[in-house]
Amino acid sequence: MIAGDGLVEAVAPPPADLSRLRALPAVDEVLRSEAGLFAVERHGRQAAVMAARAALDAARAALRAQAGTVPGAADLGAGALAALEAAARPNVRAVYNLTGTVLHTNLGRAVLAEAAIAAATLAMRGAVALEFDIATGRRGERDDLVRDLLTGLTGAEDATLVNNNAAALMIVLNTLAQGREAVVSRGELIEIGGAFRLPDIMARSGVQLREIGTTNRTHFRDYREAVGPETGLLLKVHTSNFRVQGFTAEVGARELAGLGAETGVPLVNDLGSGTLVDLVPWGLAHEPTVAEAVAEGADLVTFSGDKLLGGPQAGFIVGRRDLIARINKNPMKRAMRVDKIRLAAIEATLRLYADPDRLADRLPTLRWLARKADAIGAIAARVAPAVAAAAGPRFSAEVAPCASQIGSGALPLSTLPSAAIRLAPVERKGAGQALGDLAAAFRALPVPVIGHIADDAFWLDCRCLDDEADFAANLAGLAIGPAR
Ligand SMILES: *Cc1c(COP(=O)(O)O)cnc(C)c1O
Repeated sequence: MIAGDGLVEAVAPPPADLSRLRALPAVDEVLRSEAGLFAVERHGRQAAVMAARAALDAARAALRAQAGTVPGAADLGAGALAALEAAARPNVRAVYNLTGTVLHTNLGRAVLAEAAIAAATLAMRGAVALEFDIATGRRGERDDLVRDLLTGLTGAEDATLVNNNAAALMIVLNTLAQGREAVVSRGELIEIGGAFRLPDIMARSGVQLREIGTTNRTHFRDYREAVGPETGLLLKVHTSNFRVQGFTAEVGARELAGLGAETGVPLVNDLGSGTLVDLVPWGLAHEPTVAEAVAEGADLVTFSGDKLLGGPQAGFIVGRRDLIARINKNPMKRAMRVDKIRLAAIEATLRLYADPDRLADRLPTLRWLARKADAIGAIAARVAPAVAAAAGPRFSAEVAPCASQIGSGALPLSTLPSAAIRLAPVERKGAGQALGDLAAAFRALPVPVIGHIADDAFWLDCRCLDDEADFAANLAGLAIGPAR
């Protein structure tokens, strides 16, 4: 063991090593090296001393283990600085999402509009009128900040919001059906991913699941037979991340709303990736809009903020005023409430929808989803030479057509024609390893570049690439593992 000042105890090293250990510089000398001084300036004296000691400890261990040159103060200072820089690097790191999945849950889903970023920054920097009515000077409600925007965009009577759509569903279930039943088709008992499974959410909300129908077919009579004194709500779930095809039957929301009205049981429609506008004008497939779900007669509609809507994480609940009032009185609401930063970003995002003509210019999610394959191909062609140069002669690089996905469960079967830079190993031998090394090297860049491996190649889908010059400059440090 080594004490901090370099005293050696316990196992006595061979005499030859002892002299080499004595040749190591002192902690102070390491800190007076150029890198050492820089480390003190950037990370503070205490951290720099600890890092210098750690570098010396590692050097001693190495010298004991094997012969080698004794590192000088400059080398040890550089080592200490590198360790401090690595430890200080943020864990939340910006990356280039070239996966081809626009709303990538693991990469943070929607990228916010500049207006939303500005609003969130303002809310972070100072006090804001969050629950304060500026006109009267009295207490206000935080939901008031976005209620009119949400009702205006959806046609609903009232609106509220919580942390995410999973929370929205939980509080809706708990408010309307605690200790009672929620009727759901077996074809809609979905798992969204991770820990979000509808039956589990229902159980934790204190609601008894009443499954009806079969995986592929559920009929109106199944719903009618299930509704009774124990029924708290009818739940319709947008099967956002899969499709049942073939011999299928499902009951539309309009029909279910009729049953709900007749029996006095509220219909809740969980849209998931609810959109506020029809995406067809931007060349995308039709995804049910929130306004449509409201017009079909759902008593409540729930949807996410960070999917197709293109805002921050949030769960919106819109619908009947009396039901929203009950939700707002549920103590769970306080545990799920949205903070001022996100509220500011949500308001700014919703306001962009007032001008659909410029929506695609301002909302990155929509801009990327609407991007045409030839425009993406032009981006790919412009950055391809830099990518090819960085990848080196062991890989062939070409611009190739590919298919992007929307992600986050929206329109799972419809892909968007796109373009990528396709990197393929020149040598067939060890190609799998080479591709893995290549993907790892791109992830190890100062701003990690995330692509995907498919069909014996590494693909960088350029749909979500905007800052081409920064992207190319970032590639300079690409270091691919040795050929094996
Ligand atoms: C994504 C999704 C959810 C969960 O929404 P989060 O905002 O991720 O919590 C719930 N239901 C459906 C149908 C979804 O697609």
